[in-house]
Amino acid sequence: MKVSIKIKFSVFLAILLLLTMSILSKLVLSGITNNQKKDYETYLAQQVKIANTYIRQMYLTKSIEDRKQFLQESAQELVAQLNSINGMYTAIYDMNGKEITNSMPYNNRTDVKELLSHALKDQIAYQIVGDYAEYIAPLYNVDQIGVIKFHYSLKKNIDFYNDIKALFMKIGAVVFVFSFIGAYFYFNTFSKSIVKLKKDTLDIKSGLYNDIVPLRRNDELGELSEGIYYMSSQIEKNIKKMEEEQQKLRLAVQKLKALEKQQKTFIGNITHEFKTPLTVIKTYMDLLNIYSDDPNLLKDAKVNIVKETQRLYEMVEKILHLSSLQKYDFEFQYEKIDVKEILEEICSRMQGKAQKFNISLIKNLQSVFILGDKENLMHIFINLIDNAIKYNKVNGEIFINSYTKDKKVFIEVADTGIGIPKEAREKIFEPFYTVNKDRSKNHGGTGLGLSLVKELIEKQKGTILLLDTKEKGTTFLISFPSL
Ligand code: ADP
Repeated sequence: MKVSIKIKFSVFLAILLLLTMSILSKLVLSGITNNQKKDYETYLAQQVKIANTYIRQMYLTKSIEDRKQFLQESAQELVAQLNSINGMYTAIYDMNGKEITNSMPYNNRTDVKELLSHALKDQIAYQIVGDYAEYIAPLYNVDQIGVIKFHYSLKKNIDFYNDIKALFMKIGAVVFVFSFIGAYFYFNTFSKSIVKLKKDTLDIKSGLYNDIVPLRRNDELGELSEGIYYMSSQIEKNIKKMEEEQQKLRLAVQKLKALEKQQKTFIGNITHEFKTPLTVIKTYMDLLNIYSDDPNLLKDAKVNIVKETQRLYEMVEKILHLSSLQKYDFEFQYEKIDVKEILEEICSRMQGKAQKFNISLIKNLQSVFILGDKENLMHIFINLIDNAIKYNKVNGEIFINSYTKDKKVFIEVADTGIGIPKEAREKIFEPFYTVNKDRSKNHGGTGLGLSLVKELIEKQKGTILLLDTKEKGTTFLISFPSL
């Protein structure tokens, strides 16, 4: 059975007080007994003394003849005298132990032989029988002439002793009850605090760290509660830290897995993309070995081998560029660049190609300055404008804008071309991804242009976004920190 701590404390305190009371009462009662004993011994000795004084006085008044039978003749008178003084039953014995006179009624008498034997040897002796003391002492004239016995009532002493004892018992019971009630209420506050501390530890166990509030007490329990509060907040902090670290680790593992997957597809793509032009070249070489003087085959072979070799060359160059950008912290030649100047130069270079398809380049350029690598910026914009031409329609348009906003430089390259389908929007920056393989191939595309563009922009602390516009066509928005 579980007994609460406050009951245990209360019972303990009540018993402790009761024990103290018992020891105290024992000491007081034994003091009372000793004192009473001393009192009645003194009183009875005094009565014996008075008796002896009477004997001596009475003896002097007797004639020489009467003195022989003095005690036998005077005993009754002596007893009557003493009785009038102290009211006690008194008996007198001669030196043979024979009773001369006894004022006590016959049926109340007790056997005092043993006591008599002491008194006849000149000794005082007494015995307690019930609530009486039989006190016996020698009587003297000059020498011992007999023995006197007093029948002394102890009733008053015993009543007083019993009254005090009953008083102690009552006080003991009251002390027990009141100390139990008092201790119960006093320990109630402790017990409440202990129960709260117990709840706090259970809350820590269940991870409810925020439910813990320290106790406002100016004692060890208060300090313990502060300690538990501090401990729980430390545990919470550490768990949060651990969870954050775990989350970071999980993300790192995810990233690593994605990177591994990306690398695998990258290598798979390289193998595939390299195989196609090499197969074309090899096939033409085999055919040329068989039909070496076929002029049509020779013409075809020349055109296609040059085309595929050019594609292979471009691919190798872009792959090397891309992987070197991803692996090494490339040395960029940073300088202050007016983006407008670069875009003007590129537009005039691309003008010829655009005209071929009757595409107009419409510029709205502000002079905006950034810190960048000129050659790489040229590479970025050539790629984007080249794509805008490649994936445009005949008589289409390309809009090239540059402007500053919120301490950033923005460059927009928008075209009225075929656009990029929704499902492909997220993938176009991945290496080797093309929406339409044939269209891309026909224009000498490799699927590496945009991934290289993105990498180059990000290395120069910029961003590239494919905007979701209502108009048909494609819009890329590039931003760089403004200078
Ligand atoms: P590619 O060498 O094939 O052009 P890119 O990486 O430059 O490779 O582009 C990836 C793909 O994104 C292209 O194959 C094409 O499908 C699509 N794309 C890029 N730019 C545009 C554009 N301006 N309009 C429509 N589609 C585009």
